[in-house]
Amino acid sequence: MSGAQTSLSFRSNAGKAVGNQKLRAAMKHAADTFGTKRIDAFAPVADVEAMRDRASAIREEVLKNLPRYVDQFVASATRAGATVHRAKDATVAKEIIRKILADRGARRIVKGKSMVSEEVDLNAHLEAAGMEVVETDLGEYIIQLEGEAPSHIIVPAIHKDRRQVGKLFSERLGVPYSDDPQVLTRTARKVLREKFLSADAGVSGANFAAADTGSLVLFTNEGNGRMVTTVPPLHVAILSIEKMIPSLADFPDFIRLLPRSATGQTITSYVSVITGPRKPGDATGAKELHIVLLDNGRTEILGGESRDILKCIRCGACMNVCPVYRTVGGHAYGWTYPGPMGLILTTLLTGMAKSHPVVDASTLCGACVDVCPVRVPLVDIILQLRRRKVREGFSDPKEKAGMALFGKVAASPALFALGQRLAGRFWPVVRVLGGKDVAGRMPAPAKTPFRRKAP
Ligand code: SF4
Repeated sequence: MSGAQTSLSFRSNAGKAVGNQKLRAAMKHAADTFGTKRIDAFAPVADVEAMRDRASAIREEVLKNLPRYVDQFVASATRAGATVHRAKDATVAKEIIRKILADRGARRIVKGKSMVSEEVDLNAHLEAAGMEVVETDLGEYIIQLEGEAPSHIIVPAIHKDRRQVGKLFSERLGVPYSDDPQVLTRTARKVLREKFLSADAGVSGANFAAADTGSLVLFTNEGNGRMVTTVPPLHVAILSIEKMIPSLADFPDFIRLLPRSATGQTITSYVSVITGPRKPGDATGAKELHIVLLDNGRTEILGGESRDILKCIRCGACMNVCPVYRTVGGHAYGWTYPGPMGLILTTLLTGMAKSHPVVDASTLCGACVDVCPVRVPLVDIILQLRRRKVREGFSDPKEKAGMALFGKVAASPALFALGQRLAGRFWPVVRVLGGKDVAGRMPAPAKTPFRRKAP
């Protein structure tokens, strides 16, 4: 994650985002497009619900036996020729990767999109060690040039329109301004090609890890994933431990579900399965493969009431439909993971003290649950976190006092009726005292309450 965590400023971050018309237009356009494409992609699939059930059951099986699948993966990947490292936290993971690269004299590193590398803030660590780190996913490349963090887990530059990207490329790369996506893509391709060919190492994430074969599975669209993992002589992959899938034979449902949920595609342009480094006779592949398995609090989450979030396969569909995310964008959440799954992971991975305002970043409408391909009970988990927030003393004292007062009034028919009468009569005063927040958001009370109209 580039920059410090700002989840504690969620309310003011969100306030600024709401006033940013360019951001809101870009978010609406992108989220609507992905939402429509997702619906279209699933429309011809007859057994969607059964597929979601099977995928959910596989993820549940992984969570029930995670230590066993991790051990199996380590043994299988090692047999296939990879070197597997286990990192208990972000600091250890970053240092393992820096050392692997430094020991081999690597200076230029090309990177594929990896949210786990954002989580541990890998780029800053490698750059501080004097290495050049080049993001090669187009969206990641754009935000790296801008000095920003991703605002979506699948579409990192979702918050930018093509005119902003055109201006950025013109300023940073010295090319003539164009907002034609094809011209912009060709520009990035030309710059990045030279980086791929001269890179000392590639760093990638992985969508899944197959425990039975020790394979990494990557879903990509731009071809950069294949370049990162096969062109340089050294490949380092970083992934979190819950990415395990028992067997390669379990993949068909995920291959059908993930791209449809993520980008509305029936399949991504590339599905890469990497099993160990290049072997004698192989035409492509890195000569050396290191895999870093990150825990960073997952084992603790697994033992707690919110463990179902670890079923998540990072498709991003819950963000695209979330009314809060669609309005404020990803940066408002203040850490690596935005949207419904993001607010949960942020709270669980960074702690309630650093993140409690984002626990409120949900309307609990349930749209996220409806689209989640592996049936993560997002709303239930958000409610668990809200209860925890109250228990741990992080709720706003004014809100707490207000809710206690409302509870008393609502429990008494006489007080409730009095409140309705007073609210109706003094509404003009409330509007003035409450300012634009109240005037703009709260409807005026009815002059005659509904229950007085009832026969
Ligand atoms: S919680 Fe579900 S919908 Fe959201 S990113 Fe994870 S898998 Fe996708």
